[in-house]
Amino acid sequence: RQRQMCIRDRTMTSFDAFWVEKDEQGTRHQVITRELDDLPEGDVLIEVLYSSVNYKDAMSASGVPGVTKQYPHTPGIDAAGIVRASTDPTLSIGSEVLVIGFDLGMNTAGGFGQYIRVPAGWVLPMPAGLSLRESMILGTAGLTAALCLEKLFWMNAQPEQGPVLVTGATGGVGSVAIALLSHLGFEVVAVSGKQDQVDYLKGLGAETVIGRETLSEQSSRPMLKPMYAHAVDTVGGDMLSNVIKSLNPQGSVAICGLVASPKMDITVLPFILRGVNVLGVDSVELPLEDKARNWTRLAEEWRLPNLAQMATEVGLDGISQTVDALLAGGVVGRTLVRVS
Ligand code: NDP
Repeated sequence: RQRQMCIRDRTMTSFDAFWVEKDEQGTRHQVITRELDDLPEGDVLIEVLYSSVNYKDAMSASGVPGVTKQYPHTPGIDAAGIVRASTDPTLSIGSEVLVIGFDLGMNTAGGFGQYIRVPAGWVLPMPAGLSLRESMILGTAGLTAALCLEKLFWMNAQPEQGPVLVTGATGGVGSVAIALLSHLGFEVVAVSGKQDQVDYLKGLGAETVIGRETLSEQSSRPMLKPMYAHAVDTVGGDMLSNVIKSLNPQGSVAICGLVASPKMDITVLPFILRGVNVLGVDSVELPLEDKARNWTRLAEEWRLPNLAQMATEVGLDGISQTVDALLAGGVVGRTLVRVS
């Protein structure tokens, strides 16, 4: 209680953070107390109330090369909280804000700490209509799903063109993509490795659920029977090749992930004989105004009625277990982190 009072009085200088150490034996996790002075220089000091666990956080927390270079480190690529100090007149003290991507949680101390200090150019005012908690149920995964849909719409995707396939369906991006597509009137076919999660996926709005094995086998055929109008792919590898080969003429796939593999073995034939489009999605370095446009959508016309249904909540001490489960492909939906 004393600690909470201090936070309210804003006199505190120490805070709790999830901490990853790495050496030759691997990585170790614990929750430690840090000082505000340990945080990097920046325009805006934010008290983080909520964060979320994304696949990239799991990679950072497990020492995967290419995500975080310097350890010890606090991951957390998402943060929602309240401005406690600011040199930017547009970001006033006490206002609710959101930080998604850029270098947060990669090589800058991230949202798994009760405070972050970041450049003003990374900070978005919380869109009206979304609470801090709801914004982190969506998090990077939700923004990425919205970006996938935005790109499909740029290619003129419409519900009457036929079913849309979503791979990695029970994952964070997959879950939100299914819910958004269904909310916007599309027929969704979910691809999942979790046979026991059919009810969950149908509850999000999937009309059909097919097993991962259906699309996992490497095929020597340059094209397969066209079955889907469009797709959102979060897994890459052979599954992505099969998705591309199974799209209807003029179909599009928005791709964002690599949980199966970053490699894709495919010929040019689906592209030059069926006019298939591959649309790349990057939520990290996307300009702030593009992120803002999609957050406004998620708060307004794309606002999901079933947000709470796709989230499990943990504290800082629950992150380590979530990271292990996520890397093993065993998490269903989104994991919200209650930070402060
Ligand atoms: P999750 O771990 O929440 O979900 C991934 C899902 O993929 C799993 O739940 C599982 O779903 C499925 N899966 C796991 N392993 C395999 C496998 N070997 N083969 C096929 N399917 C598998 O991750 P996120 O949804 O947070 O992220 C998904 C991907 O998107 C990641 O690669 C992540 O790095 C990337 N990403 C990229 C972003 C960008 O800006 N480009 C932003 C956000 C994420 P099921 O059991 O239902 O099949």
